[in-house]
Amino acid sequence: MSIHSAPDRCDLLIRGGHVIDGTGAKSFAGDVAVTADRIDAVGDLQNTHAEEVIDARGHVVAPGFIDVHTHDDHLLLTNPEVTPKLSQGVTTVVVGNCGVSLAPWSADRPPPPPMDLIGSEQAYRFPTFESYRLALEQKPAAINAAPLVGHSTLRCSTMDNLDRPARHEEIENMRAQLRSSLQAGAIGFSTGLAYAPNRAATPDEVAALAGELQEFSGIYATHMRDEGDQLFSALEESFVTARRAGCPVVLSHHKCASPKMWGRSAESLARIDAAAEQQLIGLDVYPYTAGSTILMEDHIEASKRIMVTWSTTVPEARGRDLADLAVDWDCSLVEAMRRLQPGGGIYFMMEDDDVERILTHPKSMIGSDGLPHDEHPHPRLWGTFPRVLGHYARERQLFTLEQALHKMTGLSAKTFHLADRGVLQASAFADIVVFDPDLIADRGTFEEPEQTAAGIHTVLVNGTIAWQRGIGTGSRTGRILKNPKTT
Ligand SMILES: [Zn+2]
Repeated sequence: MSIHSAPDRCDLLIRGGHVIDGTGAKSFAGDVAVTADRIDAVGDLQNTHAEEVIDARGHVVAPGFIDVHTHDDHLLLTNPEVTPKLSQGVTTVVVGNCGVSLAPWSADRPPPPPMDLIGSEQAYRFPTFESYRLALEQKPAAINAAPLVGHSTLRCSTMDNLDRPARHEEIENMRAQLRSSLQAGAIGFSTGLAYAPNRAATPDEVAALAGELQEFSGIYATHMRDEGDQLFSALEESFVTARRAGCPVVLSHHKCASPKMWGRSAESLARIDAAAEQQLIGLDVYPYTAGSTILMEDHIEASKRIMVTWSTTVPEARGRDLADLAVDWDCSLVEAMRRLQPGGGIYFMMEDDDVERILTHPKSMIGSDGLPHDEHPHPRLWGTFPRVLGHYARERQLFTLEQALHKMTGLSAKTFHLADRGVLQASAFADIVVFDPDLIADRGTFEEPEQTAAGIHTVLVNGTIAWQRGIGTGSRTGRILKNPKTT
């Protein structure tokens, strides 16, 4: 621990907690002083006077959690309290993942799945990234957001038919849109190459777009072409694309998602480690053995169980198992899924060992991949971060609390180039969580997913108390975080 200088006064003093600074360093007993939106000092501050004191005895004081993989693009506007995230200690979300971002696209037709996961045609009303950023800045949310621009969104705004590779002039058009988005602050570019609107994009098309990132220190985040039987070739494609573009790549929600791949995360992580000797690679992971997305027939065979999260045609099917619906309807799983379309599902398609191995990998960051508009969402939306700290760190002892917190704070801020975030140090922004390490836990289940976490005491966003003792304060101090070249 280090004290630059103990200030005489500060706005807010968090006294007597176990400070875990987000770097992975060991915890220490100390106080944290905050003035305006920044941390003044960390250490023994018994002589510092404060307007307001938070008693953190018996609690951990940590940087606010950074959810590096979200689909909260529209939620920030429609539900600026962002309760599913703020209630678990999240103070920053990276939006625009999996090729799907709300901007830039002024929709002239219904968004094709999976773009409908974040909003309807009316939601896609931002012709430029800057217009989206301004909308968020004019009506701030309770937490910070760092936006990526999605390839599927660019394709929708540029192409008449998404079932083919983009033509030269379409690629140039998308590059220009991505470039102006980066100039307006976007932190990077994402793909969702497994999904219909993005699937026909060739590696050349992706590399041409990702080539815009370097100048802005932007990140390339990819939901790869395949996470099942073709996992290894998809990894290779991701590495090559990022090398060609000269940018860092983040592999989204890394998993082994088919019976043939179960148990092979040791190999996939070894491939990532080997490639990381030559280039910058990050990865994110959510702490569950089930995934969730739109209803996709490709996932039926690989899943042990499928649960319906929403259905336009059969709304009452939400929360029910596809297998039970197929019995009721006396039809196959494929036929049952067709009757539910368009809709979403939870797919139990991973093994515990793989999830744990990926969680413990030193490069893995925590990202929820929560789907906030689903009617019966996967519990990861409300429970990801407390689950890592409670179930995986305290109960399973996969890693120390310091290591677990590093994966959701310091490592995440460093990988996504979020300056002065993710660490509890003098002069960093005061995004702070105070929680009880003995009580912190996710309370949601697959049956009852929408439950706030246990053990979260206080959450500060840019120096302002946003959540305290189980309730939001109504603060709206979230900011839009930009790439390092536009701040
Ligand atoms: Zn994805």
